[in-house]
Amino acid sequence: MKSTLKYVFVLGSLFLQLQSHAQPKKATPRKEGEGPWEQLIIRGVTLINSTGAPPTGPVDIVVEKNRITAIRPVGAPGLPVDPKRRPILKDGGKELNAGGMYLLPGFIDMHGHIGGAEKGADADYVFKLWMAHGVTTVREPGSMNGLDWVLDQKVKSNRNEITAPRILAYTVFGQGLENPIYTAGQARAWVRENAKKGADGIKFFGASPDVMLAALDENTKLNLRSMAHHAQTDVGRWNAMKSAKAGLTSLEHWYGLPEAMFTDRTVQNYSGDYNYQNEQDRFGQAGTLWKQAAAPFSERWNKIINDLVALDFTLDPTFNIYEANRDLMRARTAEWHADYTMPKLWDFYSPSWNSHGSYWHSWGTEQENDWKENYKLWMSFINEYKNRGGRVTVGTDAGFIYELYGFAYIREMELLREAGFHPLEVIKAATLNGAEALGLDKELGSVEVGKLADFVIVDQNPLKNLQVLYGTGAIKLTDKNEAVRVGGVKYTIKDGIVYDAKKLLQEVKEMVEKEKAKSGHILKQPGVK
Ligand SMILES: [Zn+2]
Repeated sequence: MKSTLKYVFVLGSLFLQLQSHAQPKKATPRKEGEGPWEQLIIRGVTLINSTGAPPTGPVDIVVEKNRITAIRPVGAPGLPVDPKRRPILKDGGKELNAGGMYLLPGFIDMHGHIGGAEKGADADYVFKLWMAHGVTTVREPGSMNGLDWVLDQKVKSNRNEITAPRILAYTVFGQGLENPIYTAGQARAWVRENAKKGADGIKFFGASPDVMLAALDENTKLNLRSMAHHAQTDVGRWNAMKSAKAGLTSLEHWYGLPEAMFTDRTVQNYSGDYNYQNEQDRFGQAGTLWKQAAAPFSERWNKIINDLVALDFTLDPTFNIYEANRDLMRARTAEWHADYTMPKLWDFYSPSWNSHGSYWHSWGTEQENDWKENYKLWMSFINEYKNRGGRVTVGTDAGFIYELYGFAYIREMELLREAGFHPLEVIKAATLNGAEALGLDKELGSVEVGKLADFVIVDQNPLKNLQVLYGTGAIKLTDKNEAVRVGGVKYTIKDGIVYDAKKLLQEVKEMVEKEKAKSGHILKQPGVK
């Protein structure tokens, strides 16, 4: 399906695309993964169940088809396992020896765009990068691919006909219309239509107060959920607090929070020559926003946190997607680009006046310094929100700003750690909190009897070093003075189907090599001849 006119909103940008838009290729039929089995027993693993419990092991975990049916402690660390305590394998059952390994619930990416043709990011590429990093569920926040495209992939993923995470399809508010919605009546009609088509929710970028109130009210009545990126174009009249009170269920990024905490101004301190269509202006000046808002632990700051917690509101900060703003070279030269970034995606990331999130017209010490300070204030808010009982989730928004699918997810976990989360709190944010925010916590998000068998298995301890979850692993020096790579997710299990995560990553590498060979592309750094 191609459309001739489409509003595309990503990270607060609004591009009016006049040319027809090519969609990425859909996923090919599944060749990867083994199972599900009548019975699968994962033996001798150390369990991090994500309910707040510390690691425990060794345990045997029994899965029947796609459900967890038993979790049995089978011994004490260091001692041989007591065979009498072990569940017995049935005929036709399968055993997976995971002694010395760690098992966690499948990860949930709360902000995952499924690629785009203009980036060379087809569904197989994106899905395999996610699955290779343990991501078994993704909330698709509306994309140029359109709702029908996403719903098709969702159904196929649910049937495990493709190698892909579970997909929750949210639609960009007003998608499919030629003009933005401007009446309450239109808003209600669009929301009902969206529900009828089978969407799981709505992604907002802001609108007039009347329209936001009507849309959120209608969506709540239909029992659907919602996410919002409060673009600067509307945040002067409608901030995050207003959305939360009107029924929004989750906040993306952070826009609209500082605006809810202004005490000595009503609008951001825009420079006189600011132009929203100039992304260097937009992202550069956003880097001074948190310090324009109420200070940490001040009266207004406390009140906003307490009010949002009371509303059971979800914050999905997507720290990683702004990280290039505080350290552009780090994001640009991340070691995984060489093997796993598609040439077209690399070009999309590179400085440009018109590809979204490539606003590196002149980005240097001053901008990075502003953003470093911005992060400190932002992180203190998110950490305290968690401490007071607020729900924080892990979302990436990868595919922009030098952030790569899957890898960005692990980086996001590291950034929550930097914000002050205990590693167990990070893992809960990545799993159970996401499941709760999606209304799926009866089925997903923790390793408990009765829940679906979505797991991440890694042969290193992620609580000691989250970097062992990166596909490229973590560096370790051996006794023989040799630097080696350890970790990388070993198995990703979805619906009781066991995927060799390293093999998925290898397939991605081959896809990238093939594209490079075709184009002779070598991912040059910007400006280097
Ligand atoms: Zn996004």
